[in-house]
Formats: sequence, structure tokens, C-alpha cells
Amino acid sequence: MKDKYDIIVVGAGPAGSITAKTAAMRGCDVLMIEKRQEIGDPVRCAEGVAKPRIKRHIEPDERWIAAEVKGSRIFAPDGTGVELSEDVSGSEVGYVLERKLFDRALADAAAIAGADVQVKTRATGLIMEDGYVKGITAMHLGCEEVEIRSDIVIGADGIESKIGRWAGIDTTLSPSGINTCAQFLVADIDVDPDRCEFHLGSAVAPSGYLWVFPKGNRCANVGIGIGGDTCSPGKRPIDILQNFVRTRYPDGKIIELVVGGEPASGPIEQTVANGLMLVGDAAHQVDPLTGGGIANAMDAGSIAGAVAASAIAEGDVSLERLQEYDAGWREDFGKRLKRSLAVKDRFVSLTDDDLNKLAHSVEGLDFATMDLYGLLVALIKKNPKTLWSLRKMFV
Ligand SMILES: Cc1cc2nc3c(=O)[nH]c(=O)nc-3n(C[C@H](O)[C@H](O)[C@H](O)COP(=O)(O)OP(=O)(O)OC[C@H]3O[C@@H](n4cnc5c(N)ncnc54)[C@H](O)[C@@H]3O)c2cc1C
Repeated sequence: MKDKYDIIVVGAGPAGSITAKTAAMRGCDVLMIEKRQEIGDPVRCAEGVAKPRIKRHIEPDERWIAAEVKGSRIFAPDGTGVELSEDVSGSEVGYVLERKLFDRALADAAAIAGADVQVKTRATGLIMEDGYVKGITAMHLGCEEVEIRSDIVIGADGIESKIGRWAGIDTTLSPSGINTCAQFLVADIDVDPDRCEFHLGSAVAPSGYLWVFPKGNRCANVGIGIGGDTCSPGKRPIDILQNFVRTRYPDGKIIELVVGGEPASGPIEQTVANGLMLVGDAAHQVDPLTGGGIANAMDAGSIAGAVAASAIAEGDVSLERLQEYDAGWREDFGKRLKRSLAVKDRFVSLTDDDLNKLAHSVEGLDFATMDLYGLLVALIKKNPKTLWSLRKMFV
């Protein structure tokens, strides 16, 4: 590890690796650091991603694809199911990944592109000079304090991000802005290998949803994400999940537990500062409705890496110059996040009865050509009163 780079990327998740790869491919001298000793481990993810959005960044490899699903079913509280078929729901969930191997493959690609990668290296602070971020301090291999300088620091340090805060950017999340999640990997169960399931309702997932994502070999990720403000003793995500799994898969064996949080508040207002950019969960770029953040993190990383490389070539890393990244990712998927937040806010206020009525209203409709967006449009048209506040955004 040198003591000066063009760019330091903090965090080796999907956002960090794609950022590092993109900037390195454009000739920048890049260091990516990861505080854990193993990239991708422990996994905090249900591992569902849309195929086309992954293929933008990496060639599919069977080593990190646990399952390919053909569609998904959304269940209302009374069990009424809405089915989205292959091509369509494929745009929401297509692969169920092995995230450990996927994250490692992305980091490999960054390294092959020329980035230096250091594990067990935790950023502990920012070097600030004349209002500019000029590098980081870090704890290397758990024992050595190091100072590494760079023209740009990119915070790809996930939901627990400190990089933004250290640079004076407000990254605070209120309890209602966090989806608190728990997930079991359940083995030896009868599960449809071709369909992802989403369950709604106050019993299975108050102000959130419960998912079943098949991973092949009679295994599935069964998890739940609920608003942080709805958790209470006895109603923690893990309590609700245990009840569901006991009833639905009484003979299933729980072979892994994941707990974690998703920023579900919509993105932060400012993702750049002088000499600094934030990408992925660190910038709260997760879709507030679906909780999906992998593809957005990768898309944002690719924009960030390209803008960082141009800014360095021009010798201007000011906030104004880096604003191109902020504008770029908002143009790409910012509107989608805003819409998802509005839908989420409306849906969490619906009663079980409302949700059942919505599901009944689209029974018999042909979803062969509809994606999630199309389903929402159909729901709004059939239920204009209930979903009045969303009309302007969708219809
Ligand atoms: C239970 C759960 C289920 C989910 N399911 C899905 C899903 O099915 N599909 C989907 O698309 N998204 C899902 N998500 C969201 C998805 O996991 C994230 O959006 C995605 O991982 C974001 O990538 P990232 O690179 O921004 O952050 P991360 O993947 O969190 O990577 C950040 C990295 O930074 C490292 N780091 C943090 N601080 C430091 C530091 N100081 N120094 C060095 N390194 C540091 C961390 O160790 C970590 O490796 C889920 C999230 C949870 C919690």
C-alpha cells in the first residue's frame, strides 16, 4: 500500500468495487479498502437482483448465481396472490445470488482493472485541508495506524457510513427511515424453485414485507423487513419471522441468520463535497419500496468512477466539478427512488382490508406484459380513491 493515490474508495461492496474498477480502467491510481478480513462476508442481503441491471456491469457466472427465477407472486393478507410472469418480474428479481462470491467477483474485477485492494483496513477519519478532503486515516490489519492521501475519497461504506458525516454531510436516518431486517436461510423445504414470494399484511410484516427467495437445492432466503419505528418487544423482525417459518416450514432447518438494515428514506440531499463522493447505501440509494440496493449501488458506482476520473484528469475535484456525479445518478434513477418512496409511504398506511381490496381489484388481469410499475398503474386506475395521492406520479 502506497501513501498517496488519485482515489481512495472506502468499502468493497458492489458500490465500491464498481467505482474502483471504473476509475482504474480510466487510468486512475486507485486504492479500495475493506474493514472486514473477507470481502462479502458476512452477507446482509436477500440476494435478489434484476438480470439486465447486473449484466450492465459483469458477465453472469454460474459460481455466483444460486438460482434463476421465472417470476414472482405478491400475496395480500387474505392470501390473494398477484402473479407477475417471467420477463416482467424478471425486471425486479431474476437472479438469486451467492453474495459472498458475487462481491468477491466484483472486487476481483476491480483488482484486475488495476486497483489496489486492502482488506482488514478500516477508515478511521478523513484528512481535511482548506475545506477539501485530502485522504484518510486508517487502521491497517488491526494494529497499524496509517495516513493515506488522495485527491478524491469515495465513501462506499454502506448503511453504517461514517465518511459522509466526517465530511459534514447529513446522513442521519430516522427510525422510520430504516427497514430493520432479519432473514433465515431455511434448508430442506418444499419451495417453488422458480418463483420469489412477497407477503404483505400486519400479521406477517407490519409496514413492510416478508420475502421467500428460492436458492435451489430445497433452500430459500426467508426474510422480513419492517420500519424501524414499528419494532417493539415481541414484535421484532426476528420474532415475526420465526412465527412465519414455524407455521409455513415446520420441518425446515435454519442454517443461517442474517440481521441488518436498509436505508429506506430515499436518498440524501447532497452526495458530494470538495474531494468527496458517496455511493450506494452510504448515499441511501436503496429503493425505498423494494429494499433493493445492489443494482443502484453498481449504477451509481459506475457514474462516480467515471466522473472522479475526469475530475482528476482536469485537476478540479471541487464540489462544483463533482456535482456531475450527483446530477448523473439522480437523472439515471433518482426519479424512480422518489416514486418508490411515495408508494411506500402510501402503502404502509393501508389496512389489511385495503390491501385485500387492492389485490381483488386486479384479479383476472393479464400481467404478462406488466412490470411492478405497470401493476401500480393498474392498481391506481382500479382504486383511484385509495391511491389518489399517487395518481400524478403514475397515470
Ligand atoms: C436483510 C437485507 C436484505 C437485502 N436484500 C436485498 C436484495 O434482495 N436485493 C438488493 O438489491 N438489495 C438488498 N439489500 C440491500 C443491499 O444489500 C445493499 O443495498 C447493497 O449491499 C449496497 O451495496 P454497497 O456497496 O453500497 O454497501 P455494502 O454492500 O454494505 O458494502 C459496504 C462495505 O463497506 C465496508 N465498510 C464500512 N465501513 C468501513 C470503513 N470504515 N472502512 C472500510 N470499509 C468499511 C463494509 O464492511 C462493507 O463491506 C438487502 C439488505 C438487507 C440488510
